[in-house]
Amino acid sequence: MEIAERIPMSREFDLFERMAEHEQVVFCNDPSTGLRAIIAIHNTTLGPALGGCRMQPYNSVEEALEDALRLSKGMSYKCAAADVDFGGGKAVIIGDPNTDKTPELFRAFGQFVNSLGGRFYTGTDMGTTMEDFIHSVKETNCIVGLPAAYGGGGDSSIPTAAGVLYGIKATNQVLFGKDDLGGVTYAIQGLGKVGSKVAYGLLEEGAHLFVTDISQESLRAIEKKATTTSGTVKIVAREDIYSQQADIFVPCALGGIINDLTIDQFNVKAIAGSANNQLLDERHGRKLQQKGILYAPDYIINSGGLIQVADELYGINHERVLAKTKHIYDAILEVYRMSEINGISTMESANQMCEKRIQNRGKQNGFYSASMKPKWSFRY
Ligand code: NAD
Repeated sequence: MEIAERIPMSREFDLFERMAEHEQVVFCNDPSTGLRAIIAIHNTTLGPALGGCRMQPYNSVEEALEDALRLSKGMSYKCAAADVDFGGGKAVIIGDPNTDKTPELFRAFGQFVNSLGGRFYTGTDMGTTMEDFIHSVKETNCIVGLPAAYGGGGDSSIPTAAGVLYGIKATNQVLFGKDDLGGVTYAIQGLGKVGSKVAYGLLEEGAHLFVTDISQESLRAIEKKATTTSGTVKIVAREDIYSQQADIFVPCALGGIINDLTIDQFNVKAIAGSANNQLLDERHGRKLQQKGILYAPDYIINSGGLIQVADELYGINHERVLAKTKHIYDAILEVYRMSEINGISTMESANQMCEKRIQNRGKQNGFYSASMKPKWSFRY
């Protein structure tokens, strides 16, 4: 059912009820540029809110609001897990990214972000590119993930892939009692920016891969790479990737790929990959647990990119980013351990870990105020 149908546009629609878990929602309206955007700030206990800006031709304002609320809450957990001193936020621009973008619209968006005085930092997400925010950054310092030429960290898929490899090492530690990536069989879905780097890293260590992608070019590149390593590659059809007999399924393409249909097909001991929102529903995390498949929660294993973006506020340092990304290994091990002890799914265990971090910090800090300029920020 469409979100717009679930939330009728009537007097009964209670915005405050909808945002009951959130601190602040800002509706941004600039008729002269056509900008209509919503900024949702979920929780700033750990620091100013951080989250990308999506541009999509939403069917209704309610649908856009629902997306902003859901995604900003997810960012609070992701930031808590990555230990980056940021809270959760997200912005959505209502519009068609193919036809409605103008430099003026992104400048206007930058002005609204600036009006929050440092309570919200943003950058690219679905439907927006780094180039769009070159216009916004003229109006505010609160933009992250810019091209390296503009002081940004550059390609975030590098730390993301590094983090996935650390998460796989932790998974192998639990499965086989050793961190080695080699000698293990992986089924990789998607050889894009992150997936190809993960695949190359595994091949270098002598891993055996089943791979699939829509792009023939990516498949040819990985076959060529394999010839220079002690690893092996077998290309499989897209629909067959879920049923491969392998040790670990590594999803690096689509969300929602852990669902009733695929769980029945999985022939692996664990799932550990970069894709966002892998579980179609939280109950699928429990279903994996019942089937004895270890699951590395997506928002922890794929947080290398977030760590890099957050580091930009200190003045980007790639060594520091990598050092922090290494902690993904410990975080994944801790989540596995607590899931085992408490008899809950690894996703539930991850969520509990993040909620505890926010609660503990909340005793000393609380609501992030615009007057609290971050001590660590070189931008302000
Ligand atoms: P990308 O677009 O570069 O790569 C995705 C790849 O998946 C492409 O090669 C595409 O052809 C392939 N693909 C699409 N549909 C497929 C299908 N049905 N079967 C097999 N392959 C298919 O994206 P990316 O940056 O590598 O990100 C991959 C995933 O990781 C996404 O879910 C993304 O949200 C997530 N993620 C990325 C980052 C990052 O830093 N880039 C950070 C966190 C999470």
